[in-house]
Amino acid sequence: MTANAASPNHLQLTRDGQLRHFLTLDGLGRDLLTDILDTADSFIEVGERSIKKVPLLRGRTVVNLFFESSTRTRSTFELAAKRLSADVLNLDINTSATSKGESLSDTLLNLEAMASDMFVVRHAQSGAPHFIAESVTPGVAIINAGDGRHAHPTQAMLDMLTIRQHKGAFEGLKVAIVGDILHSRVARSQIRALNELGAEQIRVIAPGTLLPSDVESLGCTVEYDMARGMKDLDVVIMLRLQKERMEGALLPSEREFYRLYGLSQDKLALAHPECIVMHPGPINRGVEIESAVADGPQSVILNQVTNGIAIRMAVMSMAMGGQVADRQQKLTELTERGLA
Ligand code: ASP
Repeated sequence: MTANAASPNHLQLTRDGQLRHFLTLDGLGRDLLTDILDTADSFIEVGERSIKKVPLLRGRTVVNLFFESSTRTRSTFELAAKRLSADVLNLDINTSATSKGESLSDTLLNLEAMASDMFVVRHAQSGAPHFIAESVTPGVAIINAGDGRHAHPTQAMLDMLTIRQHKGAFEGLKVAIVGDILHSRVARSQIRALNELGAEQIRVIAPGTLLPSDVESLGCTVEYDMARGMKDLDVVIMLRLQKERMEGALLPSEREFYRLYGLSQDKLALAHPECIVMHPGPINRGVEIESAVADGPQSVILNQVTNGIAIRMAVMSMAMGGQVADRQQKLTELTERGLA
Protein backbone atom coordinates (compact mmCIF):
# COMPACT_ATOMS: atom_id res chain seq x y z
CA MET A 1 0.00 0.00 0.00
CA THR A 2 1.41 3.37 -0.91
CA ALA A 3 -0.27 6.77 -0.85
CA ASN A 4 -1.06 8.33 -4.17
CA ALA A 5 0.90 11.37 -3.04
CA ALA A 6 0.80 12.98 -6.48
CA SER A 7 -2.91 13.79 -6.39
CA PRO A 8 -4.33 13.24 -2.93
CA ASN A 9 -6.85 16.00 -3.31
CA HIS A 10 -9.21 14.47 -5.83
CA LEU A 11 -10.02 12.25 -2.85
CA GLN A 12 -9.88 14.51 0.15
CA LEU A 13 -11.51 17.67 -1.24
CA THR A 14 -14.99 18.19 -2.66
CA ARG A 15 -15.34 19.96 -6.01
CA ASP A 16 -15.75 23.29 -4.25
CA GLY A 17 -12.65 22.76 -2.10
CA GLN A 18 -14.20 21.61 1.19
CA LEU A 19 -12.69 18.76 3.22
CA ARG A 20 -14.28 15.38 2.55
CA HIS A 21 -11.50 13.28 4.13
CA PHE A 22 -8.36 14.41 5.98
CA LEU A 23 -5.47 12.27 4.78
CA THR A 24 -2.48 14.55 4.28
CA LEU A 25 -1.58 18.24 4.28
CA ASP A 26 -0.06 17.87 0.79
CA GLY A 27 -1.92 20.06 -1.63
CA LEU A 28 -3.98 21.87 1.02
CA GLY A 29 -3.58 25.63 0.62
CA ARG A 30 -3.00 28.33 3.21
CA ASP A 31 -6.66 29.39 3.25
CA LEU A 32 -7.90 25.93 4.15
CA LEU A 33 -5.20 25.43 6.81
CA THR A 34 -6.08 28.82 8.31
CA ASP A 35 -9.75 27.88 8.22
CA ILE A 36 -8.95 24.73 10.25
CA LEU A 37 -7.01 26.82 12.80
CA ASP A 38 -9.81 29.41 13.05
CA THR A 39 -12.48 26.71 13.43
CA ALA A 40 -10.37 25.05 16.15
CA ASP A 41 -10.05 28.40 17.92
CA SER A 42 -13.84 28.61 18.07
CA PHE A 43 -13.95 25.12 19.68
CA ILE A 44 -11.46 25.97 22.42
CA GLU A 45 -14.21 27.84 24.23
CA VAL A 46 -16.39 24.68 24.21
CA GLY A 47 -13.72 22.91 26.26
CA GLU A 48 -13.90 25.66 28.88
CA ARG A 49 -17.67 25.37 29.42
CA SER A 50 -19.19 23.30 32.23
CA ILE A 51 -21.18 21.36 29.60
CA LYS A 52 -18.58 20.64 26.95
CA LYS A 53 -20.81 19.73 24.02
CA VAL A 54 -22.05 21.06 20.69
CA PRO A 55 -24.55 19.14 18.54
CA LEU A 56 -22.65 19.22 15.21
CA LEU A 57 -22.23 15.42 14.88
CA ARG A 58 -25.39 14.40 16.75
CA GLY A 59 -26.71 11.12 15.36
CA ARG A 60 -23.40 10.37 13.59
CA THR A 61 -21.24 7.35 14.39
CA VAL A 62 -17.46 7.73 14.57
CA VAL A 63 -15.24 4.64 14.71
CA ASN A 64 -11.71 4.96 16.09
CA LEU A 65 -9.76 2.35 14.17
CA PHE A 66 -6.28 2.14 15.72
CA PHE A 67 -4.05 -0.58 14.30
CA GLU A 68 -1.05 0.91 16.13
CA SER A 69 -0.95 1.96 19.77
CA SER A 70 -1.63 5.52 20.84
CA THR A 71 -2.55 7.37 24.00
CA ARG A 72 -2.93 11.10 23.27
CA THR A 73 -4.15 10.87 19.70
CA ARG A 74 -6.73 8.20 20.37
CA SER A 75 -8.12 9.77 23.54
CA THR A 76 -8.28 13.29 22.10
CA PHE A 77 -10.07 11.99 18.98
CA GLU A 78 -12.54 10.24 21.28
CA LEU A 79 -13.09 13.37 23.38
CA ALA A 80 -13.41 15.51 20.24
CA ALA A 81 -16.08 13.21 18.78
CA LYS A 82 -17.96 13.14 22.08
CA ARG A 83 -17.83 16.93 22.40
CA LEU A 84 -19.35 17.08 18.91
CA SER A 85 -22.14 14.77 20.25
CA ALA A 86 -21.25 11.81 18.00
CA ASP A 87 -21.62 8.18 19.08
CA VAL A 88 -18.09 6.78 19.33
CA LEU A 89 -16.87 3.24 18.93
CA ASN A 90 -13.26 2.43 19.88
CA LEU A 91 -12.20 -0.66 18.07
CA ASP A 92 -9.64 -2.68 19.98
CA ILE A 93 -7.74 -4.15 17.06
CA ASN A 94 -5.89 -6.70 19.20
CA THR A 95 -9.12 -8.44 20.12
CA SER A 96 -10.91 -7.73 16.84
CA ALA A 97 -11.44 -9.95 13.83
CA THR A 98 -8.31 -8.58 12.13
CA SER A 99 -6.23 -10.73 14.45
CA LYS A 100 -8.36 -13.70 13.37
CA GLY A 101 -7.28 -13.21 9.77
CA GLU A 102 -10.03 -10.93 8.45
CA SER A 103 -8.73 -8.51 5.81
CA LEU A 104 -8.81 -4.75 6.33
CA SER A 105 -11.43 -4.42 3.56
CA ASP A 106 -13.70 -7.02 5.18
CA THR A 107 -13.40 -5.39 8.61
CA LEU A 108 -14.38 -2.09 7.02
CA LEU A 109 -17.34 -3.55 5.13
CA ASN A 110 -18.67 -4.89 8.42
CA LEU A 111 -18.20 -1.57 10.18
CA GLU A 112 -19.88 0.26 7.32
CA ALA A 113 -22.79 -2.17 7.54
CA MET A 114 -23.28 -0.77 11.05
CA ALA A 115 -23.87 2.62 9.38
CA SER A 116 -20.66 4.34 10.49
CA ASP A 117 -20.16 7.88 9.22
CA MET A 118 -16.47 8.39 9.95
CA PHE A 119 -13.38 6.29 10.50
CA VAL A 120 -10.38 7.69 12.34
CA VAL A 121 -7.51 5.50 11.20
CA ARG A 122 -4.03 4.90 12.60
CA HIS A 123 -1.91 2.34 10.83
CA ALA A 124 1.76 1.32 10.79
CA GLN A 125 1.72 1.27 6.99
CA SER A 126 2.09 4.49 5.03
CA GLY A 127 -0.93 5.00 2.78
CA ALA A 128 -3.44 2.85 4.72
CA PRO A 129 -5.95 5.70 5.34
CA HIS A 130 -5.64 6.71 1.68
CA PHE A 131 -6.34 3.13 0.60
CA ILE A 132 -9.43 3.03 2.82
CA ALA A 133 -10.67 6.41 1.51
CA GLU A 134 -10.45 5.05 -2.03
CA SER A 135 -12.61 2.05 -1.27
CA VAL A 136 -15.06 3.32 1.33
CA THR A 137 -18.75 3.95 0.52
CA PRO A 138 -19.40 7.56 -0.59
CA GLY A 139 -20.53 9.67 2.34
CA VAL A 140 -18.12 8.11 4.86
CA ALA A 141 -15.22 10.34 5.98
CA ILE A 142 -11.71 9.02 6.68
CA ILE A 143 -9.41 10.91 9.03
CA ASN A 144 -5.72 10.01 9.14
CA ALA A 145 -4.52 9.65 12.75
CA GLY A 146 -0.95 8.80 11.67
CA ASP A 147 0.23 6.37 8.97
CA GLY A 148 3.71 4.84 9.04
CA ARG A 149 6.34 7.47 8.31
CA HIS A 150 4.05 9.26 5.89
CA ALA A 151 1.83 11.81 7.64
CA HIS A 152 0.19 12.84 10.89
CA PRO A 153 -1.85 15.82 9.72
CA THR A 154 -3.94 16.47 12.86
CA GLN A 155 -0.76 16.45 14.99
CA ALA A 156 0.86 19.03 12.70
CA MET A 157 -2.27 21.21 12.79
CA LEU A 158 -2.49 21.14 16.60
CA ASP A 159 1.18 22.13 16.62
CA MET A 160 0.40 25.04 14.26
CA LEU A 161 -2.47 26.12 16.54
CA THR A 162 -0.09 26.08 19.53
CA ILE A 163 2.53 28.10 17.63
CA ARG A 164 -0.08 30.66 16.50
CA GLN A 165 -1.39 31.03 20.06
CA HIS A 166 2.08 31.78 21.41
CA LYS A 167 3.61 33.70 18.52
CA GLY A 168 0.60 35.36 16.89
CA ALA A 169 1.62 34.64 13.27
CA PHE A 170 3.95 32.45 11.22
CA GLU A 171 5.67 35.17 9.19
CA GLY A 172 9.23 35.77 10.38
CA LEU A 173 9.38 32.66 12.59
CA LYS A 174 12.47 30.48 12.82
CA VAL A 175 11.49 26.92 13.69
CA ALA A 176 13.64 23.82 14.19
CA ILE A 177 12.63 20.18 14.38
CA VAL A 178 15.22 18.08 16.21
CA GLY A 179 15.96 14.36 16.37
CA ASP A 180 14.62 11.35 14.50
CA ILE A 181 13.38 13.01 11.30
CA LEU A 182 13.91 9.81 9.29
CA HIS A 183 11.08 7.87 10.92
CA SER A 184 8.83 10.79 11.78
CA ARG A 185 5.46 11.28 10.11
CA VAL A 186 5.02 14.26 12.45
CA ALA A 187 8.09 16.08 11.04
CA ARG A 188 6.91 15.58 7.45
CA SER A 189 3.48 17.05 8.17
CA GLN A 190 4.93 19.90 10.26
CA ILE A 191 7.39 20.92 7.54
CA ARG A 192 4.56 20.96 5.01
CA ALA A 193 2.30 23.08 7.28
CA LEU A 194 5.04 25.53 8.27
CA ASN A 195 5.96 26.11 4.62
CA GLU A 196 2.36 26.66 3.59
CA LEU A 197 1.64 28.99 6.50
CA GLY A 198 4.71 31.13 5.74
CA ALA A 199 7.34 30.43 8.45
CA GLU A 200 10.60 32.19 7.58
CA GLN A 201 13.04 29.34 8.34
CA ILE A 202 12.47 25.65 8.92
CA ARG A 203 15.56 23.80 10.09
CA VAL A 204 15.93 20.13 10.82
CA ILE A 205 18.70 19.27 13.30
CA ALA A 206 19.83 15.64 13.45
CA PRO A 207 22.70 13.25 12.84
CA GLY A 208 22.97 12.13 9.21
CA THR A 209 21.77 8.63 10.12
CA LEU A 210 18.40 10.03 11.27
CA LEU A 211 17.69 12.12 8.18
CA PRO A 212 15.92 10.97 5.02
CA SER A 213 18.20 11.23 1.97
CA ASP A 214 15.90 13.74 0.22
CA VAL A 215 15.23 15.81 3.35
CA GLU A 216 15.87 19.22 1.76
CA SER A 217 13.25 18.51 -0.90
CA LEU A 218 10.66 18.56 1.91
CA GLY A 219 11.30 22.30 2.21
CA CYS A 220 13.78 22.77 5.05
CA THR A 221 17.46 23.37 5.70
CA VAL A 222 19.70 20.83 7.47
CA GLU A 223 21.92 21.45 10.46
CA TYR A 224 24.03 18.72 12.04
CA ASP A 225 25.31 20.83 14.92
CA MET A 226 22.82 21.58 17.70
CA ALA A 227 24.54 24.75 18.95
CA ARG A 228 24.45 26.32 15.47
CA GLY A 229 20.91 25.08 14.84
CA MET A 230 19.52 26.56 18.08
CA LYS A 231 20.67 30.10 17.27
CA ASP A 232 17.82 32.68 17.22
CA LEU A 233 15.08 30.04 17.23
CA ASP A 234 11.49 31.05 18.04
CA VAL A 235 10.20 27.48 18.21
CA VAL A 236 12.03 24.20 18.86
CA ILE A 237 10.21 20.92 18.31
CA MET A 238 11.83 17.82 19.84
CA LEU A 239 11.07 14.33 18.50
CA ARG A 240 11.21 10.91 20.09
CA LEU A 241 13.60 8.27 18.75
CA GLN A 242 11.15 5.96 16.92
CA LYS A 243 12.84 2.71 17.91
CA GLU A 244 9.89 0.63 16.70
CA ARG A 245 10.64 1.80 13.14
CA MET A 246 14.44 1.52 13.32
CA GLU A 247 16.20 -1.26 11.50
CA GLY A 248 19.73 -1.85 12.79
CA ALA A 249 21.81 0.54 14.88
CA LEU A 250 21.43 4.12 13.70
CA LEU A 251 22.99 5.63 16.81
CA PRO A 252 26.08 4.87 18.88
CA SER A 253 24.00 5.11 22.11
CA GLU A 254 21.13 7.04 23.69
CA ARG A 255 23.65 8.72 25.99
CA GLU A 256 25.66 9.96 23.06
CA PHE A 257 22.48 11.13 21.32
CA TYR A 258 21.44 13.07 24.44
CA ARG A 259 24.86 14.66 24.73
CA LEU A 260 24.79 15.90 21.14
CA TYR A 261 21.10 16.51 20.42
CA GLY A 262 19.16 16.30 23.70
CA LEU A 263 17.51 19.59 24.65
CA SER A 264 19.14 20.67 27.91
CA GLN A 265 18.77 24.05 29.60
CA ASP A 266 22.23 25.00 28.29
CA LYS A 267 21.28 24.32 24.69
CA LEU A 268 17.92 26.06 25.05
CA ALA A 269 19.75 29.17 26.30
CA LEU A 270 21.26 29.51 22.79
CA ALA A 271 17.81 30.15 21.25
CA HIS A 272 15.77 33.36 21.38
CA PRO A 273 14.85 34.01 25.07
CA GLU A 274 11.15 33.57 24.22
CA CYS A 275 11.64 30.38 22.25
CA ILE A 276 8.87 27.86 22.97
CA VAL A 277 9.62 24.14 23.41
CA MET A 278 7.31 21.59 21.80
CA HIS A 279 7.12 17.80 21.59
CA PRO A 280 4.35 15.62 20.10
CA GLY A 281 4.77 13.04 22.87
CA PRO A 282 5.44 10.56 24.24
CA ILE A 283 8.52 12.27 25.70
CA ASN A 284 11.59 10.37 26.79
CA ARG A 285 13.20 12.34 29.58
CA GLY A 286 16.97 12.22 29.48
CA VAL A 287 16.99 10.90 25.90
CA GLU A 288 15.78 13.80 23.72
CA ILE A 289 14.81 16.28 26.42
CA GLU A 290 15.93 17.22 29.94
CA SER A 291 13.18 17.13 32.58
CA ALA A 292 13.88 20.72 33.63
CA VAL A 293 13.16 21.82 30.03
CA ALA A 294 10.10 19.60 29.52
CA ASP A 295 8.57 20.97 32.73
CA GLY A 296 10.07 24.45 32.42
CA PRO A 297 8.49 27.83 31.67
CA GLN A 298 9.20 27.70 27.92
CA SER A 299 7.53 24.30 27.47
CA VAL A 300 4.10 24.26 25.78
CA ILE A 301 3.94 20.45 25.55
CA LEU A 302 0.74 20.12 27.57
CA ASN A 303 -0.91 23.00 25.64
CA GLN A 304 -0.33 20.88 22.53
CA VAL A 305 -2.35 18.05 24.07
CA THR A 306 -5.25 20.36 24.99
CA ASN A 307 -5.21 21.89 21.49
CA GLY A 308 -5.45 18.38 20.02
CA ILE A 309 -9.09 18.21 21.06
CA ALA A 310 -10.06 21.50 19.37
CA ILE A 311 -8.15 20.68 16.16
CA ARG A 312 -9.73 17.23 15.95
CA MET A 313 -13.19 18.73 16.53
CA ALA A 314 -12.49 21.19 13.70
CA VAL A 315 -11.30 18.55 11.22
CA MET A 316 -14.10 16.09 12.03
CA SER A 317 -16.86 18.69 11.73
CA MET A 318 -15.39 20.14 8.52
CA ALA A 319 -15.06 16.70 6.89
CA MET A 320 -18.62 15.80 7.85
CA GLY A 321 -19.81 19.15 6.41
CA GLY A 322 -17.93 18.40 3.16
CA GLN A 323 -19.47 14.92 2.94
CA VAL A 324 -22.97 16.33 3.38
CA ALA A 325 -22.38 19.09 0.78
CA ASP A 326 -20.89 16.50 -1.58
CA ARG A 327 -23.93 14.24 -1.31
CA GLN A 328 -26.29 17.18 -1.86
CA GLN A 329 -24.35 18.28 -4.94
CA LYS A 330 -24.42 14.76 -6.40
CA LEU A 331 -28.17 14.55 -5.77
CA THR A 332 -28.76 17.93 -7.45
CA GLU A 333 -26.73 16.80 -10.48
CA LEU A 334 -28.66 13.53 -10.74
CA THR A 335 -31.98 15.38 -10.39
CA GLU A 336 -30.99 17.84 -13.14
CA ARG A 337 -30.13 14.93 -15.42
CA GLY A 338 -33.51 13.35 -14.62
CA LEU A 339 -31.83 10.36 -12.94
CA ALA A 340 -33.08 10.84 -9.40
N1 ASP B 1 2.81 10.48 18.79
C1 ASP B 1 3.54 10.80 17.58
C2 ASP B 1 3.20 9.84 16.46
O1 ASP B 1 2.28 9.07 16.57
C3 ASP B 1 4.99 10.92 17.82
C4 ASP B 1 5.68 9.70 18.37
O2 ASP B 1 5.08 8.63 18.51
O3 ASP B 1 6.87 9.82 18.63
O4 ASP B 1 3.85 9.85 15.43
